Amino acid sequence: MNIILLGPPGAGKGTQAQKLVAERGMVQLSTGDMLREARKSGTEMGKIVADVMDRGDLVTDEIVIGLIEEKLEAEKGAGFIFDGFPRTLKQADALGALLEKHGQKLDAVIEMQVDDAALVSRITGRSTCGDCGEVYHDVTKPIPADGKCSKCGGTEFKRRADDNEESLKQRLMEYYKKTSPLIGYYYAKGDLSSVDGLASIDEVSGAIAKVLD
Ligand code: AMP
Repeated sequence: MNIILLGPPGAGKGTQAQKLVAERGMVQLSTGDMLREARKSGTEMGKIVADVMDRGDLVTDEIVIGLIEEKLEAEKGAGFIFDGFPRTLKQADALGALLEKHGQKLDAVIEMQVDDAALVSRITGRSTCGDCGEVYHDVTKPIPADGKCSKCGGTEFKRRADDNEESLKQRLMEYYKKTSPLIGYYYAKGDLSSVDGLASIDEVSGAIAKVLD
C-alpha cells in the first residue's frame, strides 16, 4: 500500500509517518529528511539546497524527483509513505509515472487539516532525536526528564534551522501557492481523504488507520 501524507509544515506528517513505519512496516520517504542528509554530507547538491531550505523556499522539482526515484528503486517494504512529497503538480505527475513504471499505484492521499495559528507553536517548539529522528515538542511531547530519547536512548536533540517564525512564513506561502492545489488534484482523482490534524497524535493515527483499512 502506497500513501501520501499531505499538509502544511507542522501538520504532523513526520510523526504519523513514524507511527506507520513502527506499526505496519511501511517505508517512510521524506524528501525533507533526504535533503537534510544531503546537506550534512556536504555534497555539491547539499550545498545548493541548504540556502533554499533555510529561506523556506522549495528545492527544484528535478532534484526531489531524482531523490524519490533512487529510493523507489532501492527500498523495499510494506508500501511507501510519501511525507513532504509531492509538493507541486509537476512532482505529483512524476510520482504517478514513477509508480506506474514500478508496477505500483497510489492507494490513498491523506490530507492532514490544521489551522495556521496552531502551526507556529507546533513548529517553534519542535525538536528531534539526533540518533533516531523521533519527534518531540516542548509542550505536547517533551523530551523525557532523564534527557534520553524514549525510542532509542539517544541524548542529543536538535532543532531544525528552518523551524523559526521567519522561515515558517515563507514555507506556508510556498505551501498555499504550490502544494495546496494538490488537494483538488487528488480529490478529482478520487484518492483524497481528510483527517483532523489538530486532534491528539493517537486520534489522528486512529483516523488514518480507518482510511487505510
Ligand atoms: P520538510 O522536512 O518536509 O518540512 O522539508 C524541509 C524543506 O526541504 C522544505 O521547506 C523545502 O525547502 C525542502 N523540501 C522538502 N521536500 C520538498 C519537495 N518535495 N519539493 C521541494 N522542496 C522540498
